[in-house]
Amino acid sequence: MGKIKKLCGLKKDDIKIVMKKLVKIVSKPKFICEKCARVSKEEKHLCHPITLKQQKEKN
Ligand SMILES: [Zn+2]
Repeated sequence: MGKIKKLCGLKKDDIKIVMKKLVKIVSKPKFICEKCARVSKEEKHLCHPITLKQQKEKN
């Protein structure tokens, strides 16, 4: 099992390997990557994270 660094950099082959962790990370997302449109519970998994809540308030 590999460690997840950034969701943004995952390739298709990587996704299979880390799928179980991935499910936990994206199941209750608090952050979205502004560049890649990936979501995560923790901002450390994204390259340009912004909070989902903040984004909703803007709109
Ligand atoms: Zn990103």
